[in-house]
Amino acid sequence: MEQPSDNSEQKAERHKARQQKLKAGVDAKIAAAQDEKGILLVLTGNGKGKSTAGFGTVARAVGHGHKAAVVQFIKGTWECGERKLLEGAGVAFEVMGTGFTWETQDREKDTAAALKAWEVAEQWLKDESIQCLLLDELTYMVSYHYLDLERVLTALKERPPMQHVIITGRACHRAIIELADTVSEVQPIKHAFEAGIKAQPGFDY
Ligand code: ATP
Ligand code: MG
Repeated sequence: MEQPSDNSEQKAERHKARQQKLKAGVDAKIAAAQDEKGILLVLTGNGKGKSTAGFGTVARAVGHGHKAAVVQFIKGTWECGERKLLEGAGVAFEVMGTGFTWETQDREKDTAAALKAWEVAEQWLKDESIQCLLLDELTYMVSYHYLDLERVLTALKERPPMQHVIITGRACHRAIIELADTVSEVQPIKHAFEAGIKAQPGFDY
């Protein structure tokens, strides 16, 4: 015989009970999370959205009146929209003075450019007035051995305790992932480029 189906009142009650249980769990976790510290955030993976999420976090910091800075380790062919906006809001930028490495193919020149940008990053990693620092595309500098991993780890570890740092880029070194507090991997499900659509200003850069 067919079971009588629940009436909508019973369903609503069960839903309410489930939601209350969920809320109690979330509330307990919120109550338990009491510490504040500078977060090391890594945004990695092959999908689109790493740099935009990094810049989004910088925008949040600026919105709260915090001092923020950005080092871009790979300079694209075009100037990114975020720089135009954020420099106007007082965010300091250091942009590596070279094109994509796979375009220039001049290892010595690229290494010198990477070091120059990293030296600025190191200064900012000692500056406690900077509350949020984005190291965009830093991962490549380490994986292609333009920068020494130990040197990068040391500067990250010794930074001011309240400073937030965001590292973006594909194939992040395991040691940086281990050091990080929060790590997100962006997975590509699809990308318009594969359908022949080019990178567009105001959307891709
Ligand atoms: P975005 O700057 O849009 O947040 P991203 O930082 O995650 O992207 P990068 O690896 O830095 O990605 O690549 C930058 C450029 O390459 C952007 O123009 C982006 O649209 C494009 N791109 C990112 N992921 C892919 C992908 N899976 N296939 C093709 N192009 C991609
Ligand atoms: Mg990027």
